[in-house]
Amino acid sequence: MDHMNPKITINLDKLQHNAAEMVKLCKPAGVKLSAVTKGFCAKPQVAAAILKGGVTSLADSRIENLRKFQPLKAEKILLRIPMVSQAEEVVWFSDISMNSQWVTIQALNVAAKHRGVQHGIILMTDLGDLREGIFSEIEFYELVKKASRLSNVEVKGIGTNLTCFGAIIPDEKNLGKLVTMADEAANIMGTPLEFVSGGNSSSIYLLQEGKLPKGINHLRIGEGILLGTESAYGAKIPNMHYDVFQLVAEVVEVERKPSMPIGTIGKDAFGNIPIFEDKGMRNRAIVAVGKQDLATHSIKPLAAGVEIVGSSSDHLLLDITEADIDYKVGDEVTFSLSYGAMLALNTSSYVSTQYVEQGR
Ligand SMILES: *Cc1c(COP(=O)(O)O)cnc(C)c1O
Repeated sequence: MDHMNPKITINLDKLQHNAAEMVKLCKPAGVKLSAVTKGFCAKPQVAAAILKGGVTSLADSRIENLRKFQPLKAEKILLRIPMVSQAEEVVWFSDISMNSQWVTIQALNVAAKHRGVQHGIILMTDLGDLREGIFSEIEFYELVKKASRLSNVEVKGIGTNLTCFGAIIPDEKNLGKLVTMADEAANIMGTPLEFVSGGNSSSIYLLQEGKLPKGINHLRIGEGILLGTESAYGAKIPNMHYDVFQLVAEVVEVERKPSMPIGTIGKDAFGNIPIFEDKGMRNRAIVAVGKQDLATHSIKPLAAGVEIVGSSSDHLLLDITEADIDYKVGDEVTFSLSYGAMLALNTSSYVSTQYVEQGR
């Protein structure tokens, strides 16, 4: 059945607007924008709205996701270092992949030759966040040298990723270093680089403050477009919609209950010992969504006076005592989402998707 609860609602008009706003933010700084689609599991309809906003390049960490974009006219970039076992699929379904491993780059070259195509690569350097990328500068330049000699792989640029593992914030120092390294790489190759890729939504604040080092000409933005927030400090980006994605779940029980459980307290279903505050008798509602679908602390009820008191695999417990709405069984409750909740909900096979129009 269509639009069964729980469902994630996606406002495509608002998303198109956010994409257009992000293009506006990037353009004056000479930055090319790739929209990152993993947050919504690369649903082609959603990607199409982003393209309507003026974005020309889509990026995702999974090749299965990029594969869905075949009918779309857009550049396709694979973000996660490719699996060497997927070299064929990578050259087939992406134009460019981000790489750090020589064996994998060689495999991509073989696969590209086999298919009779050129495959673009962006070489990743690690500037301190300690997720992907080559840490040693000397080894990085050696890789640039080796990779640029391959017949069917083309080194299109260099890049880095920050604020993912080490929570390192991009700044003029680390991204300045990327620009210096790009100059050296261009020297080695004897050609200028098409991509100097300076990170994700945590780099947006540098754009806003006019502090993005000159020479950074590419960003890969997911959260900024999808949620309208930058991720270095968690601030809202002006003129964006912050409610493109919402969760709707259904009330299955309304009861008046004490706020303190009765009996000896042991461990809950997830091994934690819960702590309770005695607020006397409260009006409680159960909505049919739970930890299997998302991290329930990463969502917020939109309606005033509704509070999340807990959750288990399939139940979300709400205190509705202070709510303006008199909730009944069958009513729908709407929640705003964090990035993690959006990702999980889009992935869950128990959650349906509903596309909504502007103004609803
Ligand atoms: C996920 C990802 C991004 C996008 O991150 P956001 O914070 O959503 O903008 C960019 N680059 C890489 C390598 C990623 O894995």
